[in-house]
Amino acid sequence: MTDLPDATAKKLGLVIDLDTCVGCHACVISCKEWNTANYGAPLADVDAYGAAPVGSFLNRIHSFEATPEGRGPDAPAAVVHFPKSCLHCEDAPCVTVCPTGASYKRVEDGIVLVNESDCIGCGLCAWACPYGAREMDGVEKVMKKCTLCVDRIYNEHIPEEDRVPACVRTCPAGARHFGDLGDPESQVSRLVAERGGFDLMPEQGTKPVNKYLPPRPKADLAPPPEAGEIDVLGPLLAPVAEEPRGFLGWLDRALEKL
Ligand code: SF4
Ligand code: SF4
Ligand code: SF4
Repeated sequence: MTDLPDATAKKLGLVIDLDTCVGCHACVISCKEWNTANYGAPLADVDAYGAAPVGSFLNRIHSFEATPEGRGPDAPAAVVHFPKSCLHCEDAPCVTVCPTGASYKRVEDGIVLVNESDCIGCGLCAWACPYGAREMDGVEKVMKKCTLCVDRIYNEHIPEEDRVPACVRTCPAGARHFGDLGDPESQVSRLVAERGGFDLMPEQGTKPVNKYLPPRPKADLAPPPEAGEIDVLGPLLAPVAEEPRGFLGWLDRALEKL
């Protein structure tokens, strides 16, 4: 019902490293704060500690325990923290399903946004998004979503180093990267190529711009059965000399005479 552009000049998006994300939620908090005070503000946050809280978050972290493939059922599970926000899809079903044109994809940079004054709160886009990336604002009754911090990345009133999404600027683990995924020479595109970045649920045909970097295989810390018990601190605690030498040796001998 709403058209998508045939192509966009840029494909701005995020690259999220599932290997280094530690699930600290710092990106969730900074996203909430930035978007509560800026574009699309306020983000609903009512009765947060009460019986019926109402809140919108444009970025959420899901944490899973997963046994690596091919390691057998007894292998220790790895914990993977999975940040999720809008993926700014090229074939965004949340846009085409919108009956009013409130949801749209920008021609100049590919960012998917909602024009809240045209949103009637029907929720069709939330049903159409296969990633659960849209959030109905329970107070304003309009749909909200990740804006890719469009009000930061072009904002000439803030220092240049801050002109990246709030979540990227905040992440203490360096797990979030921002750039033009339409430019094969960009830092984010090279990262995706080097680390085997992948699309989330490609079978949905949405062509997400955001990419995820897979967790690296973890070293196998379990000793082989023939090794017996291993004292991992042993090499560090081995004595460096049978008899103290030099100044320490002299001091040791002098103290013994007292
Ligand atoms: Fe739309 Fe969902 Fe894709 Fe974002 S992730 S562009 S909300 S379909
Ligand atoms: Fe939130 Fe901005 Fe990050 Fe999107 S890009 S998840 S709006 S902080
Ligand atoms: Fe993961 Fe970085 Fe978000 Fe923390 S701030 S949860 S490390 S992506």
